[in-house]
Amino acid sequence: MLAYTYVERGKFEMREKPLPRLIDPRDAIVRVTLGSICTSDLHIKQGSVPRAVPGITVGHEMVGVVEQVGPAVSTVAPGDRVVVNVETFCGECFFCRHGYVNNCVDPQGGWALGCRIDGGQAEYVRVPYADCGLTPIPAVVSDEQALFVGDILATGFWAARISEITPDDTVLIIGAGPTGICTLLSVLLKNPRRVIVCEKSLERQRFVCEHYPQVPVVSPEECLDFVRTLGNHGGADVVVEVAGGDDTFRLAWECARPNAIVTVVALYDKPQVLPLPDMYGKNLTFKTGGVDGCDCAEILQLIAEGRIDTTPLITHRFPLRNIEEAYRLFESRSDGVIKVAIENTEHNAKLF
Ligand SMILES: [Zn+2]
Ligand SMILES: [Zn+2]
Repeated sequence: MLAYTYVERGKFEMREKPLPRLIDPRDAIVRVTLGSICTSDLHIKQGSVPRAVPGITVGHEMVGVVEQVGPAVSTVAPGDRVVVNVETFCGECFFCRHGYVNNCVDPQGGWALGCRIDGGQAEYVRVPYADCGLTPIPAVVSDEQALFVGDILATGFWAARISEITPDDTVLIIGAGPTGICTLLSVLLKNPRRVIVCEKSLERQRFVCEHYPQVPVVSPEECLDFVRTLGNHGGADVVVEVAGGDDTFRLAWECARPNAIVTVVALYDKPQVLPLPDMYGKNLTFKTGGVDGCDCAEILQLIAEGRIDTTPLITHRFPLRNIEEAYRLFESRSDGVIKVAIENTEHNAKLF
């Protein structure tokens, strides 16, 4: 089968690989019907994900159809359309039982697919702990509607969930890339008094204005003044930092009012400074980390009800065979690209 592969730093290539097989009784094999490219894939390519294993098939955002399940799998069956979760988790350890699935202590736990084990920019993928890692897609939800549920939408939904947003709040979201927009959609579901988006790219500012005209968009330069004026108490009640730029962490806590919650979803290239003397007396609460991707069923239900729609993020489509071209576009951020969909309709390889 076709499998897009991490060869070495700076090099991915399409390879022909054998079909995946069930290894553990809790595994499933999924025929990938639609996938995407994530910024984390680019980080692997750049060599900035040390735990990524050369030779693995990349890709961790995908939906598909279950082809085979191990004898211990009980919640999905062959023929089910499913979302694949970016995180692998056992469902049984202390962290999983508390919903902190990002910290699953299983050796395979965490971001394994497309990083440490073969992922989904391929015709088929083996998913460990399939009962946890696969969520059935309701019949009324299309593959494109479900595409981001297991990764960037899970991230935005989790960020909104942990940010303790109330109807009185002014919420500032820093960053309107794909995850920023997923965060925006999830924050809007909480019906806060006001949501403000801060984004430096003019193209992405325009994207937000066009699709979410009720949401004011400001540049990083305008942001602090704007939020101080509009927020009722000298700043935002909740700040969600999704940008990960050089100065966006500072911007996040500066824009927060005293006693605000600052949720840091962003992944930074460099260490960030927490200048405690400057923020003394501001009494901020910081929440940081990587997604606990355990809300996929709830998110799919919201999509089925028409309350979340991420399809405008899909700006370009490519067949798996031409994924190279999709990477070039996604990396160059040209032609207004937000996300690409990788369509997989050939499936020349047959499992049975
Ligand atoms: Zn990702
Ligand atoms: Zn676990």
